[in-house]
Amino acid sequence: MARRPSVARNIAALRNSVAGYRKKGVTVALVPTMGALHDGHLSLVRAARKKAKRVVVSIFVNPAQFAPTEDFSTYPRTWSADIAALAALGVDLVWAPSAAVMYPEGFSTRLEPGGPAKVGLEDRFRPHFFGGVTTVVSKLFIQVAPDIAVFGQKDYQQLMVVTRMARDLDLPLKVVGIPTVREKDGLAMSSRNVYLSPPERATAPTLYRTLKECATNLRSGQPLERALSGARATIEQAGFAIDYVEARHAQSLAPIASLDEGPVRLLVAARLGRTRLIDNIAV
Ligand code: AMP
Repeated sequence: MARRPSVARNIAALRNSVAGYRKKGVTVALVPTMGALHDGHLSLVRAARKKAKRVVVSIFVNPAQFAPTEDFSTYPRTWSADIAALAALGVDLVWAPSAAVMYPEGFSTRLEPGGPAKVGLEDRFRPHFFGGVTTVVSKLFIQVAPDIAVFGQKDYQQLMVVTRMARDLDLPLKVVGIPTVREKDGLAMSSRNVYLSPPERATAPTLYRTLKECATNLRSGQPLERALSGARATIEQAGFAIDYVEARHAQSLAPIASLDEGPVRLLVAARLGRTRLIDNIAV
C-alpha cells in the first residue's frame, strides 16, 4: 500500500516538515487546492512530482474567496478519498490548516490585486474573489516557501493573477501552469461538476465544444466580434445564462480587437441552473 502523506494542521508542524526537506537540500513543490480532488488536481500533483523532490499539497477551502451568496458551506469535502489519492501519488505532506489557523482572531491584512485581476472577467462577477485568492495564496507561499507552485490553466485568470502577484511581491518561486484535464466529452473537470443534474451534465460539454468552434472560426479569418456573438448564441441556445464569453490577450487579459494583437485566449463563464462553469482555451 502507498505510504500516506504526513498531515500538518498548524504552522509549527508545517515548518518542521519543510525544514527537514530544506536540511536535505531538496526542492519543494506546492500544489494549492480546496480538496474534493479529481484528475485535474492529480495532474498538477504529477507535474509537481516531476519538477521537485518533495511535494506539498494544501487542502483549504478558503472562506475569504467566497461571497456570502456562494457555496462555501456546501462546497464538496472528501477528505479520506483525497488523502488516499495523494498517497497513491507519493505526496509527502498535506497542509490542512483550519480557518482559525489561517485567519486567527484579529487577522486584518488583505491583498488587493490589480492588473489581470481587474479586467472585467471573473472579477466583474465575483468582486471579492481575487483579493481572497491572493491573500490566501501569498500566505501559503510564505508558509511553505516552495521552489515551485503548480496551478491549473482551468482557472486561467487566477493563474495570471497569482503569477503577477508572485512577481510583484518578489516571492522567490516559480509559478507553473498545467493544461486543463477534461472528461471524455470535453467538460473541464471541476469539483463543482457534482452539482450538475443529469440533463445539465449532458449540456455542459457545449461550453468547450463552442470554444473550439470559435477558435477555429477565428483562425480561419472570421472577425472577432462575429465569432464571439456566434459562440454566445450557441451557448445561450443550449440553456446557459452567460456571464461572459471573451477573447483576451493571453498574458495581460486586456481586450483585443483582432487576432493580430495576440496571443489570444478565449474565456467563458456561464451558469447552468445553479451551477457556474468556467472554461478557456488558446486560439
Ligand atoms: P481548486 O481546488 O478548484 O481551487 O483547484 C486547485 C487547483 O487545481 C487550481 O490550480 C485549479 O486551476 C486546478 N484545477 C482545477 N480543475 C482542473 C482541471 N480540470 N485541470 C487542471 N487543473 C485544474
